[in-house]
Amino acid sequence: MGVQEYYPTWWYRGMVYGYPDCCVVNFCLRGLALEKGEPQPGKFFEFRGKPTGYVMCPECAKKTRKEIIDTINSRRDPRLPRFPSHAI
Ligand SMILES: [Zn+2]
Repeated sequence: MGVQEYYPTWWYRGMVYGYPDCCVVNFCLRGLALEKGEPQPGKFFEFRGKPTGYVMCPECAKKTRKEIIDTINSRRDPRLPRFPSHAI
């Protein structure tokens, strides 16, 4: 099974969690790079010193933590805890 088969799931989850579209696209490309053994673009967003499941695309990695958190929470499914309190 190739990594591309996960794309719909990753896209759906990224939408629910409120991650920016650019980062979801990057996450998919990252998966592909990982599969090919190539360097992976993006950087994990850390919370309490540990990486979360959210990977910032290179552009978003330049933003402040507050900008990132505000963007994600404004897009996030309101039934979920606020990012990154229970970061996934
Ligand atoms: Zn991004």
